[in-house]
Amino acid sequence: MSWTQLTFDVPDDLVDTIVGEFDVDGAAGVWEIEAPNPGFTRVIAYFSRRSNIEKVENVLRSIFQRVDKSFPPITRTVVEERDWTEEWKKSYTSFPVADSFFVIPSWENTECPSDRIPIRIDPGQAFGTGTHETTQMTMDALERWIEPRHIVLDVGTGSGILAIASRLLGAKRVFACDIDAVAAQVARSNIELNAGQDVYTFCGSLDAVKSNSINLLLGNLTADVILQMFPEFARVISLHGIAVLSGILRDQDEDLREVVERYKFNVFEEITQGEWLALIVEKHGD
Ligand code: SAH
Repeated sequence: MSWTQLTFDVPDDLVDTIVGEFDVDGAAGVWEIEAPNPGFTRVIAYFSRRSNIEKVENVLRSIFQRVDKSFPPITRTVVEERDWTEEWKKSYTSFPVADSFFVIPSWENTECPSDRIPIRIDPGQAFGTGTHETTQMTMDALERWIEPRHIVLDVGTGSGILAIASRLLGAKRVFACDIDAVAAQVARSNIELNAGQDVYTFCGSLDAVKSNSINLLLGNLTADVILQMFPEFARVISLHGIAVLSGILRDQDEDLREVVERYKFNVFEEITQGEWLALIVEKHGD
């Protein structure tokens, strides 16, 4: 089987919009890599030979028109079937995250720099390679807010990367959950690889968590999911407990702040990376 490959460079802040459209329009796979021009990402998307590429290009053109940016040249090639997992593995190599960590694909034999803590990950089908801004911001917040006495809950653990980071930074106990059974399994094997002790994994969500039991909650989800789950976050977090809320687009800030304040939380800190924002909030309770 052969595929049509489209390659083009887009401004970093448009990548998620474009890739979101591809989901709708039937791309079989999309890769994002660094483009030669700073501030741009190279998008490589594969479509089946039956896909209507003209339609895809028109959708792309309309996105660029909407934001008033010039439409980039698109290279179209035909490629033969490959082992996509193996191809992807070649593009995922070790890299530093935040001040403390060094993420190493589990199949790679790389030494960790002596001033960093290694996290070995095979993300499989789960989200959480560590390359996404929303994960990186959460790890950055984690470094600054975690304390050894903390009981941590990683809601939507994906590959388990945040649960692992929490434990490696010395959290007393870590719970990691995901509603996706595959993610929960992937997380468990990554956790075993890095920091198995005192980290508990389960497939499910907050209804399995005791009230007022969590000192630090990590939620790298989406604004919609966080808004919907926030009453439950407020229930499980102990007084003066902290939540790191990530996966929020900058323009969703106000909705989040409104809910956070309604449930008697203070916003301690707001951090941003690209189009993304994370809030660090504390339950004050009065
Ligand atoms: N924590 C990882 C992965 C984040 S992706 C990281 O930071 O990189 C978000 C994950 O949340 C997905 O794996 C998804 O299955 C999970 N998820 C979505 N809604 C959820 C819910 N209500 N409860 C628990 N997990 C949820």
